Amino acid sequence: MLGLMQDQPLLISSLIQFADRHHGDGEIVSRRVEGDVHRTTWRGIARRARQVANALDGLQLGFSDRVATLAWNGYRHLELYFGVSGSGRVLHTVNPRLHPEQIAWITNHAEDQVLCFDATFLPIIQAIHGKCATVKHWVMLCDADKLPEGTGIPGLRSFDAWIDAQSDTYVWPVFDENSASSMCYTSGTTGNPKAALYSHRSTSLHAYAAALPDVMNLSARDSVLAVVPMFHVNAWGIPYSAALTGCKLVFPGAAMDGKSVYELIEAEQVTFAAGVPTIWQMLLGHMRPQGLRFSSLKRTVIGGSACPPAMIHAFQEDYGVEVLHAWGMTEMSPLGTLCTLKNKHLGLPKEEQMKIRLKQGRAIYGVDMKIVDANGAELPFDGTSYGDLLVKGPWIVAQYFKGEGGDPLVADADGQRWFPTGDVATIDAEGYMQITDRSKDVIKSGGEWISSIDIENIAVAHPAVAMAACIGVKHPKWDERPILAVVKKPGAELDRDTLLAFYEGKAAKWQVPDDVVFVDAIPLGPTGKMLKTRLREILKDYQLP
Ligand code: ADP
Repeated sequence: MLGLMQDQPLLISSLIQFADRHHGDGEIVSRRVEGDVHRTTWRGIARRARQVANALDGLQLGFSDRVATLAWNGYRHLELYFGVSGSGRVLHTVNPRLHPEQIAWITNHAEDQVLCFDATFLPIIQAIHGKCATVKHWVMLCDADKLPEGTGIPGLRSFDAWIDAQSDTYVWPVFDENSASSMCYTSGTTGNPKAALYSHRSTSLHAYAAALPDVMNLSARDSVLAVVPMFHVNAWGIPYSAALTGCKLVFPGAAMDGKSVYELIEAEQVTFAAGVPTIWQMLLGHMRPQGLRFSSLKRTVIGGSACPPAMIHAFQEDYGVEVLHAWGMTEMSPLGTLCTLKNKHLGLPKEEQMKIRLKQGRAIYGVDMKIVDANGAELPFDGTSYGDLLVKGPWIVAQYFKGEGGDPLVADADGQRWFPTGDVATIDAEGYMQITDRSKDVIKSGGEWISSIDIENIAVAHPAVAMAACIGVKHPKWDERPILAVVKKPGAELDRDTLLAFYEGKAAKWQVPDDVVFVDAIPLGPTGKMLKTRLREILKDYQLP
């Protein structure tokens, strides 16, 4: 017997229709690449999203055709989020920090037909447009009168001129909720990038989940700063959850330096902000020397790479801002876990609470996870056994776009199919997961594993250290030994022995790095994560002392 409830597919268009009807005057504030601050509302976004849909119909774009964006966080990008997916096309967000050749490769692989880009990226488009064989329409995200002449890009049009000319009435089509809605390529630090192809259903379920109290706890009372980019995993789903909850959205555009982010937080009375640790490092670096304070910020979700304890501590203790440590990946839309305390933890001393907050957190309903040993046997949730982290759920990839890379899932003894995350983790009896490492970064020394994240976290707690990366180097006796690449804070004094002495009492003797190499910078990948593959190349001639 089937239930007798309405059979309405979960579609992205319903999110923007809901926002339009139920909190249409909610604000969307964007710092534009033009330099000024632009203000609109959910009603304004919904109207322009309908115009985007009409514009795409006008180009005779078919169902599931790809529309690419190369853009910062801003209102025009948001209009495309809803107009493209809502009308049945697939929004392909491209990471502008990729190498231009890789952008061209991705565009061809995705078979993008339209490419919309911010003015900042005009030079990239000028360099690669001849190589993007499938792109028929080039659109610059700019005012009608700001379109430059003589760019050499065929048929280049201004987004505003194009959209303003469209009718703002549109009936959103209804189709299967499993239809593709958007896509995002993984960074491809090894081999060619592969794309996660999200569906309307996966995106809608993720949007509900992301808003939950023990996840981002978004509400119509929040002013949300999305520093996490809309060009990578849909800004952690915030645009969709914001439409669902009616929170105010604040977009930083291209200005993500500490000063600009701080000013925006204060001017827009931001209560909740989301970003990767490097962004917050810059923000705190700007605030500290001037003794600046937050007047509205209450919570910040930090993820994408391990959040150093020193940063969690600084936000909580020095600024009274609650840090929610989060873990996820492109293949998971991206949210997997978030770290919030349970009722029974509220009475614990601060140091005990901090030990929990450092973990990546508890699984969100919709994400099932377990850890397994090298033979695939499940390991206990005891907080000490570590193994490969496997996940499954309705917003986790089943396969990559075009079947690239073969079947990514592994079956367990019960026939259940799981996605191997490539992370090594522990899970404690309370369900809190802690990443020890990327499986390819873990350091294997004398049959024991050393977590590069643990070693880095200790280093960045030293007041003279700005950034630290721990990698394994070959060792004749121990197989591998850890060394530490360190960037000093500007003007700070620090030598090798002082830093190594700092490990005393904080790590077991055999886990302490064998050496410290001071470097000017640690190479970062296109999503702001430390690029250890590149660091290993740079240090390939390094010899242990
Ligand atoms: P890519 O673009 O490389 O696919 P993703 O953004 O999908 O990158 O990154 C996913 C990976 O980032 C995870 O598998 C994990 O290794 C790492 N990661 C994400 N969040 C955290 C976190 N809070 N702590 C430690 N590692 C994290």
